[in-house]
Amino acid sequence: MSAQLETSQQLSELLKQHRKATDEQGVVDVETRKRRLQTAIDLLVDHHQELCTAMEADFGGRHQGFSLMNDILGSLNSLKHARDNLEQWVGSESRQVFSPYDQMGAQAWVQYKPKGTVGIIGTWNAPIFTLLSPLASALSAGNRAVLKPSEVAPETARVLAKAIGECFDPMDVAVITGGVDVGQAFAGMPFDHLVFTGSTEVGKKIMRAAADNLVPVTLELGGKSPVIISETADVREAARRLAIAKGMNGGQLCISPDRIYVPVAARDEFISAFCETYSTLYPTVEDNPDFTAVVNVQHLARVTGYVAQAQEEGAEVIRCPDVAVPAVGRKHPLSIVINPPLLSDIMQHEIFGPAFVLLTYSDIKHVVQEINQGGRPLALYYFGQDQAEQDYVLDHTLSGGVTLNDALMHAAMEEAPFGGVGASGMGHYHGRDGFLEFSHARTVFQSAPVDPRAEWGMLPPFPEHFAAAMASQVTR
Ligand code: NAD
Repeated sequence: MSAQLETSQQLSELLKQHRKATDEQGVVDVETRKRRLQTAIDLLVDHHQELCTAMEADFGGRHQGFSLMNDILGSLNSLKHARDNLEQWVGSESRQVFSPYDQMGAQAWVQYKPKGTVGIIGTWNAPIFTLLSPLASALSAGNRAVLKPSEVAPETARVLAKAIGECFDPMDVAVITGGVDVGQAFAGMPFDHLVFTGSTEVGKKIMRAAADNLVPVTLELGGKSPVIISETADVREAARRLAIAKGMNGGQLCISPDRIYVPVAARDEFISAFCETYSTLYPTVEDNPDFTAVVNVQHLARVTGYVAQAQEEGAEVIRCPDVAVPAVGRKHPLSIVINPPLLSDIMQHEIFGPAFVLLTYSDIKHVVQEINQGGRPLALYYFGQDQAEQDYVLDHTLSGGVTLNDALMHAAMEEAPFGGVGASGMGHYHGRDGFLEFSHARTVFQSAPVDPRAEWGMLPPFPEHFAAAMASQVTR
């Protein structure tokens, strides 16, 4: 069988073979894990050019330098970090045995066992990273894996699947391509763990499908990541950094700033500084190779529809850079939608494209309340210089991650967990936290040679003093 699977039937058969091999193999040594990681690293190094060309084609315009940075180097970073550190992660950890067995020679430890085979479903917006970064964690934990790329980036899926077919033994890593029907079948398979990156709505379906086989899930979802600009912030610098962040991948990043809360008095300064930076980064749109296009007409219609509806309902919209909307192609100037109605679509749904909502405020406590009324966001950003206020925001909100006085940065940390909470997901990967996510922590208790329970009167038929002896230990 090739590592490039054609049908769900083949996937089902492969999972049976994986299970058999996993049970027979016993220990998955460090060398095996490193070999699998190295195969993925070599695949990216050998095929990075084709993959970047495919991503550019799928988006209808995405700078190859950006694809290298985001998808190729981002994945390589995770894979190399796992390769170079897993030796320190894999060992068993000894644990303290309870008294008095600790003094009688009992011992205990925790083994970090591979779970078996991890299924990984990826998105189109980071079509390599959302597959190969979780793969690094899954392989470091000694698992095998099967990948399911997004059909919305079909050329990337095709090139990746072909490369996996050429480079991998299907007993290590395999791939299956296809649309929603393949995704549905995939989510219903008896994997030992499933990682899904995608929308909150589909995430719920994945969890339901996984429940039939009691497959544990890691859900890397999205949401409306908020930004709070404090009255104490350097407004121009905050606007500059946010313009850089918002331009990344045409706003099609899971942690892209979605709604930005700005003090009423700072509104004009913020908009002017934001547009100044954004228009310097992207002075033109239509033929600008640095601008990432919206991935397809459906997503473009979705985003422009949100903006148009908000405008019809009275929101002010500022276009940035201030150029005409191109008649062809899917590269669109960014829209700043100011104070739209609460129930408008742009306030209710993740934007995930070249637009954001600007909301003016006069009391930061109300901002925190408003954030807490929605689903838990994947990222939260605070710009300010007031330590007490920063602590207030951190103490009174919950989000997948946080960057202070910048945006996106926390997600690039291989040494720290990346994941959501509540509506933005569950579980996490990256580094040792990813290793733990895809390992089963198994406690092993090795008994003491002598069993004193009969001698101490702790076994049935219980002697008279037994209950009194137990009661004497009910203490505070
Ligand atoms: P999506 O949920 O539409 O699709 C994701 C994957 O799920 C695709 O491979 C698709 O084929 C598959 N799929 C779709 N319907 C399915 C079903 N019913 N059963 C099984 N599989 C199904 O998401 P998308 O449009 O590709 O990606 C955008 C979303 O992903 C945004 O919400 C974004 O915030 C989120 N995202 C999150 C992260 C993260 O790390 N948290 C990263 C990137 C994107």
